[in-house]
Amino acid sequence: MFLRELTASADHIKGAGPASVKALAKAGINSVAALLCYYPRDWEDRSHSVPLADYSRYPAVCTVVRVIAHDWFGFGAMKTLKIHVEDESGRAVLVCFNRPFLEKQLVPGMQYRLWGRFYYKYGELQSSAFEFEPVEGAVKGFGHVLPVYPLTAGLNQGLFRRLIRQALTQYAKPLEDEIPSAIIQRDGLLPKSEAIRAYHFPASVEELDRARKTLIYEELFYLEVIIGRRALERKNTAPLVHKKREAGKDGELSALQRRLLERLPFSLTAGQSAAVTEINQDMDGEYPMARLLQGDVGSGKTLVAFLAALRAVESLSGEGGQASPPGQAAILAPTELLARQHAENAARLLEPVGIRPAFLTGNLKAAGRSNLLKALAAGDIDIVVGTHALFSRDVVYRDLRLVVVDEQHRFGVTQRQAIMAKGDHPDLLMMSATPIPRTLALTVFGDMDVSVIPDLPPGRKPVKTHLAKESNETKVYDFVRKELAAGHQAYFVYPLIEADINKDLKDAASMADRLGRQVFKGMRVALVHSKLDEEEKRRTMEAFRLGEIAILVATSVVEVGVDVPNATCMVIEHAERFGLAALHQLRGRVGRGEAQSYCFLVYSDAPPDPPESFAQDVLTEDGKTRLKVMLENNDGFVIAEEDLKLRGPGQIAGIEQSGYLSLGVADPIRDAAELARARTDAFAILEEDPGLLLPEHRRIAAVLERAPPFSNVTL
Ligand code: ADP
Ligand code: MG
Repeated sequence: MFLRELTASADHIKGAGPASVKALAKAGINSVAALLCYYPRDWEDRSHSVPLADYSRYPAVCTVVRVIAHDWFGFGAMKTLKIHVEDESGRAVLVCFNRPFLEKQLVPGMQYRLWGRFYYKYGELQSSAFEFEPVEGAVKGFGHVLPVYPLTAGLNQGLFRRLIRQALTQYAKPLEDEIPSAIIQRDGLLPKSEAIRAYHFPASVEELDRARKTLIYEELFYLEVIIGRRALERKNTAPLVHKKREAGKDGELSALQRRLLERLPFSLTAGQSAAVTEINQDMDGEYPMARLLQGDVGSGKTLVAFLAALRAVESLSGEGGQASPPGQAAILAPTELLARQHAENAARLLEPVGIRPAFLTGNLKAAGRSNLLKALAAGDIDIVVGTHALFSRDVVYRDLRLVVVDEQHRFGVTQRQAIMAKGDHPDLLMMSATPIPRTLALTVFGDMDVSVIPDLPPGRKPVKTHLAKESNETKVYDFVRKELAAGHQAYFVYPLIEADINKDLKDAASMADRLGRQVFKGMRVALVHSKLDEEEKRRTMEAFRLGEIAILVATSVVEVGVDVPNATCMVIEHAERFGLAALHQLRGRVGRGEAQSYCFLVYSDAPPDPPESFAQDVLTEDGKTRLKVMLENNDGFVIAEEDLKLRGPGQIAGIEQSGYLSLGVADPIRDAAELARARTDAFAILEEDPGLLLPEHRRIAAVLERAPPFSNVTL
């Protein structure tokens, strides 16, 4: 029996009454397995004594005290009991808020085992959070490490401790191990039945540590087994007939790719070149490509995607040397703004080399849409760029060979699958400008190949970043004015679209007005945010791209992808309110041309008005750290690592769909070493024995079959 197979309902646990079972069900705990996997959030170490005098050196005191006397303070309903106690090291006071009944239970002159969190207040050592039992009676709540469970309404520590202890007695013994015994021995881990018991009720802190290590390793091991299997499955599917191409090409550029490159005013960077070679090799191979392209903002990923698309489109000699009809490529972008920009670039760059591109969004009118869909189904369109409209049900491709997902973190797994299903094992290229820290890339995208563009196009100067207090904003405006006078353009970004009376914040709409009328009088200022209609947004962006607009006032809609090389200033007001990834992306909108670019992070320092709103306006520690990180770093990978430290993996964009939230004990960042070990182990086993048929691996196969972990997520 594996732990996850304990599907019996919680009322099979002795002593679990209907009321407790109902309360558990409300908290989502419906089975014995779910209860045993309801892990403590903390443990109280009552395994050895901590005298009163040592209260500040440990989280809690654990000692034997004698009650000296009772006294009361306050009046009426507020009357509160104080119990004076002492142990060998000193004296203290137990403050019994709302517990007058303790008068009868803690009797002067008697001795008690006492556990409590103490603090120094009003000249005495006090505790109001304490538990005790008479020294005379049996040792119950002492002498061990006690679990502390996260609680929700209707549940209490006592209930969890009692039911879980009982469930362990009834069910834990026969539980089978889930990791290979060789690994358990090698790493000094615990058998599963002991690990689960010890994680709830460890005999000592050392045992708890071993139990934790065991459960963490088990989780990460299965995560990696699942990832490893997926990688193998992809490589072990029958070679795709339509991919049988001339051997020995070794990633070299195709005719169309060369034609495009010849027309460009620049050549590929070394990083772009290497990525294109890797992509060509994949696409020429017999198996579908699954590649993640990582490159900082501005590294030129779009061009790499276009080159990949050309490779997919290109007529290739089939088996008998005949030309096969062209394939199709779909390029998926998260926002209409970005999709349109890609579509315009595709038209500009690819039409001249004989490609037929198209642009598909949800806003297309009926007639245009129906024509476009017909052309797509007939194969009269080679490359289609668009938003999620690309995988609507009625969109049919004649022969979809490549799917490019730009800003992949904006899409969920199901969306990716929906578009992949439109072709017969199409190649997949995912692009990410929010660099994914190595630790995470290895797991979340563990079955994908990764290309990294480490360099930026030559001549790019790192963006100069400055911090400015809101009270100094005129200096920033003066600076921007000089840049505008030199013919450059600027972005101003705000956290809100419109004024909000509850927040003392600048908003894009009012500032567009103010900047246009007062600050930059005579300059053309335009506003863009998500509430405007698409046509208006399109016109504004086009005018900005053409240089007809000097200042673009925006919200974070301009965060992803927008590429206007002549813009040299990015002013982010209330910068402390933006996350690191957003700040880095926003800053990446400038520094795209030859000229020096600047980013101003303007933060609020004004005294709040009204003063009660102070709490929401102070620059938080995290806010300060983010600004500092931005000031000191230009490298997106470093910033991503910092972001991870600040927020934890659960918060990083894109991770929520990846299965991380279903990890119970492991944390891929904190447990990076275990993760690496689990990955090596899992991959080695799968390589040697892909079917998991060897006797020592049957257990893994059985777990995957009978009690699959992470069953609620598609990895
Ligand atoms: P990102 O990787 O952030 O998506 P883009 O693809 O938007 O970056 O490219 C940023 C800018 O760099 C574009 O204006 C593009 O034309 C330009 N660019 C791309 N590759 C090169 C190159 N090899 N040399 C010079 N400029 C380039
Ligand atoms: Mg991009």
